[in-house]
Amino acid sequence: MKKFLFIILMVCISFSCNNSIDSASAEKTVLEKQSEFAIIIHGGAGTILRGNLSKKKEKAYRDKLEEAIRTGYTILKNGGTSQLAVVKTIQVMEASPLFNAGKGAVFTHEETNELDASFMDGETLNAGAVAGVKNVKSPIELAVKIMTDSEHVMLSGEGASIFAKEKGLEMVDPAYFYTERRFKSLQRIKNRAKTKLDNNDKKAAFYDSDIKNAKFGTVGCVALDKNGNIAAGTSTGGMTNKRWGRIGDAPIIGSGTYANNKTCGVSSTGWGEYFIRSQVAYDISAQMEYQKKTLKEATKDVIQNKLTKLGGTGGVVALDNKGNMSFEFNTAGMYRASMNDAGELVLKIYKE
Ligand code: ASP
Repeated sequence: MKKFLFIILMVCISFSCNNSIDSASAEKTVLEKQSEFAIIIHGGAGTILRGNLSKKKEKAYRDKLEEAIRTGYTILKNGGTSQLAVVKTIQVMEASPLFNAGKGAVFTHEETNELDASFMDGETLNAGAVAGVKNVKSPIELAVKIMTDSEHVMLSGEGASIFAKEKGLEMVDPAYFYTERRFKSLQRIKNRAKTKLDNNDKKAAFYDSDIKNAKFGTVGCVALDKNGNIAAGTSTGGMTNKRWGRIGDAPIIGSGTYANNKTCGVSSTGWGEYFIRSQVAYDISAQMEYQKKTLKEATKDVIQNKLTKLGGTGGVVALDNKGNMSFEFNTAGMYRASMNDAGELVLKIYKE
């Protein structure tokens, strides 16, 4: 009888092993190369609701997102590097007043603009980042220069500007970053915060008393080139009404940006403090590396489970070394687009 039970047990074990091998190989077919090269971008997440955006504004966002992604796509298609594709794509958005990066950067409490950016190369794990610059036209270009032309990963403020000037980057008068729309939104937020403080509301957030309805307009891009190299970059003006030299997640490698050819590349947008505490971008890569999760599983767990539980809002765009791509966010919308090697464009704004 004992012998009989032992045989039954062995049959069961071998059946369940075969089953898991089967599901693993099923997964493998999903993980076959999806695209020889690919590109994915975001222009910020937040309370972006269909009714709140005029048709004209919506078209302006769509057109700019498409212009940006096609810029990177063309570079990749012609055999260019993921690094070049990421920089040129982000520069299109940095030059537009629509996004909270470069030209359209939000205002600090002191009515200045302080810009942050970061870049990571998935082949070498080299990275560059800049925080709090006020007169560099393209912070993403500076982040890359810090990576290629200095022994450092991160420079900030005045020193970063001196470095940029020495390297011949385009410098601008801080007035270049003035836009009426962002200035008005600072005044609105300041007034709201003042009313809350007058009413003795101790919870009034320092940068936005209505943070749940915030819109994060940071821009980011991740690309996979024909050589299998992944690059990721993020550029932002931070959060409206920030003060005391506040720095968010965008220039923090592992939070706002991460890239590793072994796993994936990620660019984040959202309430930066939570993205720093959650190490969002690195966590996605780590779950893929150590837990063998797919890109979709990892992005979903980090944003919908871990970040949401902590109270953070925002999202990521990510792609893996097979050209799988993922948009993941826990807000009402995220400006986003992707293109694969077949030239198929996905461009969306609202949650679907
Ligand atoms: N993550 C950025 C920050 O906290 C804001 C954004 O995504 O727009 O600085």
